Amino acid sequence: MPDLSARARAVINPHALRANLGALAGRAGAALLLPVKANAYGHGLEEVARVAAAHPGVWGLAVATPREAAALAALNLGRPVVLLTPPMPHEVGPLADLGVRLPVASVPEADALPPHARAHLKVDTGMNRLGARPEDAAAVGRRLAERGLLEGAYTHLATADEPDLSFAHEQLRRFAAVLAALPPTPTPLLTHAANGGGVLSFGALPGMALARPGLATYGFAPPHLRGLLPLRPVMTLQARVTHLHTAYAGETVSYSGLWRAARDTLVATVGMGYADGYPRNATGHAQVLLGGQWRPVLGRICMDQLMVDVTGLAVRVGDWATLWGPADVTVTDVAAWGGTVEYEVLTGLGDRVERVVGAE
Ligand SMILES: *Cc1c(COP(=O)(O)O)cnc(C)c1O
Repeated sequence: MPDLSARARAVINPHALRANLGALAGRAGAALLLPVKANAYGHGLEEVARVAAAHPGVWGLAVATPREAAALAALNLGRPVVLLTPPMPHEVGPLADLGVRLPVASVPEADALPPHARAHLKVDTGMNRLGARPEDAAAVGRRLAERGLLEGAYTHLATADEPDLSFAHEQLRRFAAVLAALPPTPTPLLTHAANGGGVLSFGALPGMALARPGLATYGFAPPHLRGLLPLRPVMTLQARVTHLHTAYAGETVSYSGLWRAARDTLVATVGMGYADGYPRNATGHAQVLLGGQWRPVLGRICMDQLMVDVTGLAVRVGDWATLWGPADVTVTDVAAWGGTVEYEVLTGLGDRVERVVGAE
């Protein structure tokens, strides 16, 4: 394999990740079932899972797809893997063989599980996305318990990251009513409801064994909940300067000639574009850290590259530009420039971006 380097890297700060895990487990008063779906919100499934699995506040790891579950199980991290969305019928057996905990929302699904499966009863308390309706859920739970397969029960809150928590309270009431109707299990039922918004908004929820904060673990909270916990962004995104040149006064830079040089301008071309997940809609707003300063991106953001005004700075080909970091410009800013949310920017990071765990 020749020595060919990635043009971009996402540097994961293990200290920030551990600090966030500890703060969230503390506030939840519960162990974490950490969402590592979508490549751990873009941070790298294996990189995040290894750090998280070694953290005492983490009970297990949650994913959205059977392939993610299998990839995680193959790492043999000694932590339960929970699949949060329904498998197709032919996937149930292989996933159960891998030890993956499966969501169950109907009596036929409960009956179709092999005897060595472990199930988490999924209750739809108002998200209207997945799960058994509250009036049907207890029967599903009873069947699972009869078969000795009921390990957990969970629901998902639709509005816990919003200032008005009245619907979240209603969902929690509906969930508590289902739990009260379930038979006792040999080991305490692993109940979980709170996402990151729920952990931040509610703190410890009575009767909940686990919590599932995703985005908050990676360092981000909704505006009205910022500052409640000292969450730190875990990822710094960087890309190499691949070329330096002068754009002379009157010339334009990039597609459509959106930006025109008022004076001779030193331009750094950086190996990061919308194919890597940097939002194209950030054109006209984006800034990049080079030579110690946050400098404007010039003109249209391209598929693989963007251009930066580095006039007056000592910048060389091969230098790392920072696209976002833990301070100054964060994913929150880039998402706002792109007209979207942190979730979409982080999960959109492409596989040309190398994931690197920073210094211990
Ligand atoms: C993604 C997800 C979470 C995490 O949500 P955040 O808003 O990132 O905290 C929790 N539970 C389920 C079922 C999810 O799909």
